[in-house]
Amino acid sequence: MLDKVVIANRGEIALRILRACHSLGIKTVAVHSTVDRNLKHVGLADESICIGPGPAAESYLNIPRIIAAAEITDATAIHPGYGFLAERADFAEQVEQSGFVFIGPSPEVIRMMGDKVQAIRTMQAAGVPCVPGSGGPLGDDAEENARIARDIGYPVLIKASGGGGGRGMRVVRTEAHLGNAVTLTKAEAKAAFGNDQVYLEKYLENPRHVEIQVLADGQGNAIYLAERDCSMQRRQQKVVEEAPAPGISAEQRAEIGKVCVDACLRLGYRSAGTFEFLYQDGRFYFIEMNTRIQVEHPVTEMITGTDLVREQLLIAAGEKLSLRQDDIRITGHAIECRINAEDPDTFAPSPGVVKRFEAPGGPGVRVDTHLYDGYRIPPNYDSMIGKLIVHGPDRPTAIARMQLALAETVIEGIKCNIPLQQRIMADVGFQHGQQNNHYLEKRIAEQKENFPAGE
Ligand code: ADP
Repeated sequence: MLDKVVIANRGEIALRILRACHSLGIKTVAVHSTVDRNLKHVGLADESICIGPGPAAESYLNIPRIIAAAEITDATAIHPGYGFLAERADFAEQVEQSGFVFIGPSPEVIRMMGDKVQAIRTMQAAGVPCVPGSGGPLGDDAEENARIARDIGYPVLIKASGGGGGRGMRVVRTEAHLGNAVTLTKAEAKAAFGNDQVYLEKYLENPRHVEIQVLADGQGNAIYLAERDCSMQRRQQKVVEEAPAPGISAEQRAEIGKVCVDACLRLGYRSAGTFEFLYQDGRFYFIEMNTRIQVEHPVTEMITGTDLVREQLLIAAGEKLSLRQDDIRITGHAIECRINAEDPDTFAPSPGVVKRFEAPGGPGVRVDTHLYDGYRIPPNYDSMIGKLIVHGPDRPTAIARMQLALAETVIEGIKCNIPLQQRIMADVGFQHGQQNNHYLEKRIAEQKENFPAGE
């Protein structure tokens, strides 16, 4: 078993990792910035080390300092959480070269999945259904690019191979705009990601975001843990997630799940991972693979009764997967609302002191947060301050439980998006499972008449 783990992250996920470690008797080291001394997990960790000032570049993204912290504390392994260094192949590589266990897949797999053109090629070769597209980077021949786009059929999407976070994409609806759009996207990709490679994909007009959770031990065993629907998004950021996805049949789940498991085995994939798909007209189209634990992992845990972070730790310790595909049964329905410190109408971040915090409770209610009375939210990081997760025997019960849980939650001193989440839970279209990737933005745009504010 791993003896001591450095938690290279902050906030709710750092606390989540700490709890999984302690449940296995693993000691923890919290590494934190100067503005994060009072984080809940820092107080609960066996040891803590300050690794630099508030700006992430000087602390949570500073690889030598994190590795030094592991050396000083004589740790065995490093868990990257999500965001920050979680999908940096160079970090995983340096962790391993320094003699520590990286809790995640191999650096080679992280690198491959970080390059979208390569990831798509790999997945196509493994039999994973992808969005019809150029199948490779676009060259400089405008005629040839126009031919590729015509073959795919308009509208098409130009995507940066090194893109991420919903950036580096451009929709093109007619051939007249293609050449210019390619030039622009390349220039932007070069500036933003240091890589001007772009490729073409069919632009799906009304897809849903449906993703498959996998666990693999890199020793010939892999399973899928059903799917999540994360279509309720604003600016490509997920706002609400749920599992299972409304309208996906057991047969579809088993079929796409097996495709993902086969791909994992072929890749020699290790740890938890997510295959992200667009889902439209009953079909799945792969867009990318996330090689880390995700924000929305709890909804999968709730419906499958698993602890995904614990599984990550066991796999990293070299154990074989103890779960078999037949052990994974879906019970009921789970929903997660992300709670952000932001104005619910303008979405402007709202850091500051949380004067009062009261968590909701009751059957099927889970709260993953580092908040407490008097906690000061620093302005330096992402505005997500916690997640409310509910589980019920079916989707309507889960929605009703979420409505009670949101109404019971008290967060004073800062603004947060609970009023928005209340409007979403009360929305008839959402209640009927009619969401797609554009649904939430449309509802927000027509907010005044048709998307009334909650009480
Ligand atoms: P990133 O790494 O930036 O998150 P993704 O490839 O995951 O990029 O795409 C982000 C989002 O962009 C998707 O969730 C989806 O809403 C939209 N998107 C990506 N590809 C397509 C496509 N081919 N058609 C329609 N929407 C797309």
